[in-house]
Amino acid sequence: MTLIKSISGIRGTIGGKAGDGLTPMDIVKFVSAFGYWISRSQANARSKVVIGRDARISGAMLNSLTSGTLQGLGIDVIDLGLSTTPTVEVAVVEEKAQGGIILTASHNPKQWNALKLLNEKGEFISGEDGAEVLEIAENESFRFAEVDELGTIEFKHDWIEKHIEMILELPGVNKDLITSMDFKVAIDCVNSTGGLALPPLLKALGVAKVIELYCEPSGDFPHNPEPLPENLKDLSAIVKDQGAHLGFAVDPDVDRLAIVCEDGEMFGEEYTLVAVADYVLGLNKGPVVSNLSSSRALRDVAENHGQQYFASAVGEVNVVSMMKSHNAVIGGEGNGGIIVPDLHYGRDALAGIALFLSHLAKSGKKCSELRAIYPEYHMSKNKIALTPEIDVDQILDLIASRNRKEKVSTVDGVKIDYENGWVHLRKSNTEPIIRIYSESTTPEKAQELAQAIIDDVNVIVQ
Ligand code: MG
Repeated sequence: MTLIKSISGIRGTIGGKAGDGLTPMDIVKFVSAFGYWISRSQANARSKVVIGRDARISGAMLNSLTSGTLQGLGIDVIDLGLSTTPTVEVAVVEEKAQGGIILTASHNPKQWNALKLLNEKGEFISGEDGAEVLEIAENESFRFAEVDELGTIEFKHDWIEKHIEMILELPGVNKDLITSMDFKVAIDCVNSTGGLALPPLLKALGVAKVIELYCEPSGDFPHNPEPLPENLKDLSAIVKDQGAHLGFAVDPDVDRLAIVCEDGEMFGEEYTLVAVADYVLGLNKGPVVSNLSSSRALRDVAENHGQQYFASAVGEVNVVSMMKSHNAVIGGEGNGGIIVPDLHYGRDALAGIALFLSHLAKSGKKCSELRAIYPEYHMSKNKIALTPEIDVDQILDLIASRNRKEKVSTVDGVKIDYENGWVHLRKSNTEPIIRIYSESTTPEKAQELAQAIIDDVNVIVQ
């Protein structure tokens, strides 16, 4: 059993003793803290919170506990039912709610679930706000409403449709051009709520034929739900065997997008954002943001368009805050997370699909040909296990100072930019390990860059 309480919310595995896993007691306590925190900021006015969930098996249990607890606090609930993370995010704003809760453990396997907390802008709450919620939960300093003040509940199951309508209105989404291409598209929605959103989205975009794989939102994940190449073999085979132009895969809460080309090869999760940014920058000039662990290809594409690239600390909330401060026109994360500020400041695989298809249609290329126009980079992901008594921060400081002749960023761990690639070291908050990501023009060179740093760390430790 695992229960992880952090400033970004609470997540854990279902079951066990209260406090050890994500149990009903823990869910009620945490929702009470978040709801109380929201209503406290509302003075005497009633608060409204939008909730929605992915299709995982524990979702219905979390949903009823969350809804009942909010009503008990005197908060009116708008329940979207089975939905997507980006859909709940846009609904919070449009419904003029004071917050939102998405019940999803994102790409994690079925035994996990979590509460993702949103502010009144439909964006993840800040670290500061999260710390306040955590404190309220720890002290159980919440108060519930009296009988005449209990919250109401309203079910609104048409939000995916509304979200799709908003995507169709986005600058650059070209339905006519997509329709003219007679696209045949295969999709893998891992039996979660992508199955409710991708088919109507693709139809609305004018895709001629959709081949649905794992689109039943039963929560019975047919494979590890993270949209990584090793988990998308079925989609890859179907795209190739059925002669589809491309395939799309999303994670259970539909904020990450992976693409498979017509030849069954992965477009590369890192390149989802690269391609969409290339398209957006062709229409609208402005800065671009991703996190420090994302591909350098985005920087190259931004430079090709004569635009600036900025790298934030890892974490969606950090990407969003940097996008706002630089007024970025597009941003996101290398894990297939596209953030389109014209729609909202959150990763949105549905918006990503609409923009990618528009890009592909406009290019007139095959998917694999489009991929080939982008600079070729390869990543290597390593970790070093340490013993708990080792001071990881001190190791990171030493690595940074030993490399001071290079371009070094200490915004989030240590990132060293070399001429031919980069290495990014981050310490884990939960285990005594350092994660080392590196990137270069070949897999071997990426591994070499990482290995040199790993050797340095090992010498320091000894
Ligand atoms: Mg996700």
